[in-house]
Amino acid sequence: MSYAKVLAVGLVGLAGHLIEVEADLATGLPGLTLTGLPDTALSEARDRIRAALVNSGESWPNRRITVNLLPASTPKHGTAFDLAMAVTVLAGAGALPLGPLQGVVLLGELGLDGAVRPVRGVLPGVLAAVRAGIRRVVVPAGNAREAALVPGVTVRATDSLRRLLDFVRGSGSLLDPPGGPGRDPGGGPDLADVAGQELGRRGLELAAAGGHHLSMIGPPGAGKTMLAQRLPSILPPLSDEAALEVTAVHSIAGSLPPDSPMIRRPPFQAPHHTASVAALVGGGSGTARPGAISLAHQGILFLDEAPEFGTQALEALRQPLEDGHVVLSRAGGTARYPARIQLVLAANPCPCARPTGDAGCECSALVRRRYLGRLSGPLMDRVDIQVPLLPVTAAQLIGDLARVEPSTVVAARVARARAAAAERWAEGGWLTNGQVPGPVLRRAPWRLPGTATVDLRRALDAGSISARGVDRVLRLAWSIADLDGRVSPDHGDIREALTMRMGRTG
Ligand SMILES: [Zn+2]
Repeated sequence: MSYAKVLAVGLVGLAGHLIEVEADLATGLPGLTLTGLPDTALSEARDRIRAALVNSGESWPNRRITVNLLPASTPKHGTAFDLAMAVTVLAGAGALPLGPLQGVVLLGELGLDGAVRPVRGVLPGVLAAVRAGIRRVVVPAGNAREAALVPGVTVRATDSLRRLLDFVRGSGSLLDPPGGPGRDPGGGPDLADVAGQELGRRGLELAAAGGHHLSMIGPPGAGKTMLAQRLPSILPPLSDEAALEVTAVHSIAGSLPPDSPMIRRPPFQAPHHTASVAALVGGGSGTARPGAISLAHQGILFLDEAPEFGTQALEALRQPLEDGHVVLSRAGGTARYPARIQLVLAANPCPCARPTGDAGCECSALVRRRYLGRLSGPLMDRVDIQVPLLPVTAAQLIGDLARVEPSTVVAARVARARAAAAERWAEGGWLTNGQVPGPVLRRAPWRLPGTATVDLRRALDAGSISARGVDRVLRLAWSIADLDGRVSPDHGDIREALTMRMGRTG
């Protein structure tokens, strides 16, 4: 036999496609040719496959070998095809029966010594294989637990090419994925650690309850980062479907811990303000990798020192924020990644970031205004909650200690509020108050009585709030009412929502 074929999976963004890896061996000048749109990493596969086979004790067929990846129109990249290519070369040479690998997808990178190394994107790859009707996969041992998260497929793993070849020849066996639930990654930092920042904690709880984007403005040391990091701990855990999707994105980024691959809590991403546009929204040459906004999918994108982010970077976030996904076009194909996030912005009141007073900040009012002005525009238009934070005094810290609650207590209130909102907006298809368009809130049946909105109308007439600001106050007031178990916002809820917005004018 001089022809053989096995199956692998290629990924473009989160979408996977079955790839047939075929080898033809002919007489002629010995060598290996790869066809079917291989990128650089694939070309380097040539050397890896040869070394891995020889170092696994196999003899390299001294013939003219052509390895082709089908369909040719699908872009292919990465190192996950190594295993399939090595097997198909050996089978094409007549040195390996392929019976046991019929209908099996093979994924894995080969080391020169014949070791099978973990690859990125195993979870979305196996998901795609199952959708294409595949029921058995062989993956690197380091990806086995991740692959086994996919329902409806039998996962076997291998740590070396040798092990796989022994299995195919009936003289050895493959590895089973590790049993048990895996290491518990823990719940992350707890809200019980934050004392003395009552307004900040309230803002955080409201943001969680209503799915509102949040901004916090205050001097260094006021606890902005501490608060932001604790938002995931009061959000509901991810549904099974969302968890798989989030885990798939992180699988492609190569950021899953092998011992507890499934991400069940909303992720938290905090890119530095020097991050490139590609790091924020995704990119890279050849194949576009997910950026911070997609790694934060179903969770939090935290921009600390937000005014320090370039205009270009902030502008690049606008469209994904609106669409809930990112589309990246590259020569290697068009990748699409999900990006439904909750945005949390933090900023110092001025560029020097020193406390006001003696020997501290000397920034003029104009400099301060300009600095925060960098945050205005389309991005800030979507931020419902703007909390001003002040440095915590010792007296506040002590006085507040008795009122500090652990995340589990707050999360229970948030869950109740979210359930009430989801039921109310079910007809419109919105899950949270943060998603409801302004006009819906301003007309029947959700229009609030004049007695409730008197302060809001006064603020509008006085020019201290814009028309868009009114919508944000209304959205927020619904979240306040939901948290406190009222059927609709009253005068007090509107007043609190107005206070929450007065961190900055708008
Ligand atoms: Zn200053």
